[in-house]
Amino acid sequence: MEELEGKVAIVTGGGSGIGKGAALKLAEHGAKIAIVDRDSQRAERAREEIERMGGEALALEADVASEASVRSAIEQAVLRWGRLDVVFANAGINGTWTPIEHLTEEDWDSTININLKGTFLTLKHAIPHLKRQGGGSVIFTSSVNGNRIFSNIGASAYSTSKAGQTALMQMAALELAEHRIRVNAICPGAIRTNIGENTNRTPEAEEAQIPVEYPDGAIPLTHGPGTPEQVAELVLFLASPRSSLITGTKVYIDGAESLL
Ligand code: NAD
Repeated sequence: MEELEGKVAIVTGGGSGIGKGAALKLAEHGAKIAIVDRDSQRAERAREEIERMGGEALALEADVASEASVRSAIEQAVLRWGRLDVVFANAGINGTWTPIEHLTEEDWDSTININLKGTFLTLKHAIPHLKRQGGGSVIFTSSVNGNRIFSNIGASAYSTSKAGQTALMQMAALELAEHRIRVNAICPGAIRTNIGENTNRTPEAEEAQIPVEYPDGAIPLTHGPGTPEQVAELVLFLASPRSSLITGTKVYIDGAESLL
C-alpha cells in the first residue's frame, strides 16, 4: 500500500513550480490532492496531470490572501473527501525588488499579504479539520532568504515575509503539538520555477544593480538551481509518518547555497 493511501492533502500554489511538483509526488504516493491556486488554468492542468497518473485531484481557484476565499477552498476539499491530513501552505510571490526607500506601501502589503497572511489563513482554517482527524502534517514554504541568508538586497518585503513564516511555524508547532499536528517549514534555495514571472524589479533596483537571482555558480552542490522534484521528496517525507517526531523545524534544501 502507498504510504499516503486514503490521505487528503491541500497544496496552495499547486498549479506551478514547487507546489505542482509536491502535488504530483503526494498523489503518486496515494494522497488525494486539492490544488489551490489563484490561476485556475494552472490548477486545472495540474489536476489533469494527476488524473492521467491515475490519481484523484480537485482544482480550486482561490486567493490565499483572502480569508473567505481560502476558507471556502479548504471546506470544498473536506466536503469532497471528508477529511484532511496534509497541508502544504506554499503559495507565494517574489513581489517587488527595490531599495527600502522606494518600496511602496502597496508593494509591501501585497507581498506580506500573500506570503505571510496567506500562510496564516491557510493554517487557521485547516486546524479544525486536522484536530477532528486526530492530527496531521502542515508544511510551509519559507526560504533561505529571510532565515540563513539575506543576500537578495532589495527583497526586504520578501525576506520579512519568509522570516515571519518560520516564527509562525514555531508558534504553531508548540500550540498544536497536543493535537498531534506537526508543523514544519522548508527553506529552499534557488529552484527552477515560474516565480521570476512575478518579480517586479524597479528602475531603482536596476540602478542599484540589485541582483534578482543568484548566479548559477552560487550553489556549491549543483552549480545551478534545484528542481521542484527534488523539493517534492522533502515535502513527501515531512507529510508522511516517516517524520513522526519532526515538528517546529526549518529544513534547508539549497545545495549548501546558504553556507557561502
Ligand atoms: P511559482 O510562481 O512557479 O508558483 C507559485 C504558484 O502560486 C503559482 O501557480 C501562483 O499562481 C500561485 N499563487 C501566487 N499567489 C497566490 C495567491 N495569492 N493565492 C493562491 N495562489 C497563488 O513559484 P515557486 O517558486 O514554485 O514558489 C512557491 C513557493 O516557494 C513560494 O512561497 C516561494 O516564495 C517559495 N520559494 C521559491 C524559491 C525558488 O527559487 N523558486 C526559493 C525559495 C522559496
